[in-house]
Amino acid sequence: MATTDLPILAAAYEAASDLGLRLDGEVLIDAAGEPWTMREFSAVVAARLGYEAQPLPEPVQAAARPNRSLQKAMAKLTQLRASLGNRLMAASEHAYEEALRRAGVKVGARARSRGTTKAVQSAARTAVVAGEGFAPLLAALGLKEADLLAGAFSTYETQARAMFAAQLARQHAIVRSFGIDPLSVLPDDRASTDAASYLVAGLIALARQRLLGKRENTAGSSDLPGEVTGSIPARLILSAIAINEGQVRHIPGRTPDDIPTLARIGAVIDQLGMGLDDALSGSLSLEVALAQVVLERTPTIEWEWVHGFYGEPTTEFDPHARLDGEVFTDRNTDPRLISDTDWPPFDVYFPRDHDTCTCEWIALIPEEEPESEDEAPSLF
Ligand SMILES: [Zn+2]
Repeated sequence: MATTDLPILAAAYEAASDLGLRLDGEVLIDAAGEPWTMREFSAVVAARLGYEAQPLPEPVQAAARPNRSLQKAMAKLTQLRASLGNRLMAASEHAYEEALRRAGVKVGARARSRGTTKAVQSAARTAVVAGEGFAPLLAALGLKEADLLAGAFSTYETQARAMFAAQLARQHAIVRSFGIDPLSVLPDDRASTDAASYLVAGLIALARQRLLGKRENTAGSSDLPGEVTGSIPARLILSAIAINEGQVRHIPGRTPDDIPTLARIGAVIDQLGMGLDDALSGSLSLEVALAQVVLERTPTIEWEWVHGFYGEPTTEFDPHARLDGEVFTDRNTDPRLISDTDWPPFDVYFPRDHDTCTCEWIALIPEEEPESEDEAPSLF
């Protein structure tokens, strides 16, 4: 082996271990269970070595019509987002339920072992079974609020960070395949750390509210109608995905009970001519930015509304369900989007207009009209 191969091997090894890649038969699978092509993986390794991004060879007819390969890339980006959203929903739900269960076990065990009064033991048992808040019992049990969830989400935070990082690396590879510097439209991998810590801070806040009796039951059975798939508001997960894509950043809450908030990222958003509302409403900035750069102009984009994009709706929210599959060119003034309900409190409907919404836009680049006559179908 030539010694010049060593840096390449080292970069490949590091990239593979950061992504949690393993070989399943002949397929590379990442930590999140998603398959990688060798071409995608090579692009990540090349970037680590600082090689100039080279456009990957595309079929000849795609080069003649750049929107053809762009359509494929945008569909792939959409599919990646749906896949990550669905997996994070399930994994977050599991981590949350497990954290609550462990806190209940901790309270029960403490009540039995500390020689507490029968009354406290019975109150603890009732609270565990009924899922009531533990706050009134903590002093008698010698527990602090922080003890209930100590370390409960640390494993999940690591897993979530790996899922976000793998997602971002794939998005980088797609952008790079057009010969575009990924960092011009996407953040670097620090965003994945930020996304995971935002998500976990949100889960901790939800779990504390629940365990300490500050919140009635779960988000799913609260007063918010529509599309709930579990205890975790979809918006928490979708906001974490927006952080991972560099659209917004995480502002930690003042106390662990506060759901963390978001701030717009001036540079990236302004560059795309978008506001915070766009970033938060899931306007697919990455797809728009990629289309702008590849086509060297602002493209006509059609937006399809997909109800239940991030998971099967448990409860249908009729105003959103009615929009399923409808295609729009103007998402601000189209009469079909004008709200005729008092809630959510907005003039138009949009995906993420309420906490438990699982809807999303899909960005579509319409087929271009053939430019030259010989491309047009001939009748003779
Ligand atoms: Zn919805």
